[in-house]
Amino acid sequence: MSKTDTQASQSSKFSVADHLKEIVTGFVSLLKGMKLTFGYLISPKKVITQQYPENRETLKMFPRFRGRLKFRLDEEGRHLCTACSMCERACPNGTISVLSTKDENKRKVLAKYVYRLNQCTLCNLCVESCPFGALEMGHDFEMASYDRDSLVFILNQKEQDNDN
Ligand code: SF4
Ligand code: SF4
Repeated sequence: MSKTDTQASQSSKFSVADHLKEIVTGFVSLLKGMKLTFGYLISPKKVITQQYPENRETLKMFPRFRGRLKFRLDEEGRHLCTACSMCERACPNGTISVLSTKDENKRKVLAKYVYRLNQCTLCNLCVESCPFGALEMGHDFEMASYDRDSLVFILNQKEQDNDN
């Protein structure tokens, strides 16, 4: 047998072995998948897939889900914002405008906290930058709108505070 014939024969053997290995691996993988599928069929309570939108009324988002930006409120329903503007500076795309004024004691207080959801990437940098823990990402979903104006929120307006 020539050297070339020997090489061809070895290559053909490896190829068959590789194919057999792939068939066995594929079959084992199929069995694993079927085991999972039948497991859920027998115990449907284990299924974690959300049946959306059928469960819209009862759906609770997971704690780490990031919806739109919101103020955190204290026990008396007051926000914690001091108008320091740290969040405004931390936001990479100008989503937040903090407008301040002075109170009767000449102390800086929040006049208007403007949040533009249509610009927000929900990156959470503003929440992390706030030294007073005044912000959080809410759990709202289905926030799409054809009206851009409806995506601009004044967070310190009473009705939107209560929306928390
Ligand atoms: S979540 Fe990100 S993009 Fe949205 S307001 Fe905060 S810092 Fe800006
Ligand atoms: S939300 Fe926090 S970081 Fe932003 S202005 Fe208010 S206190 Fe400062």
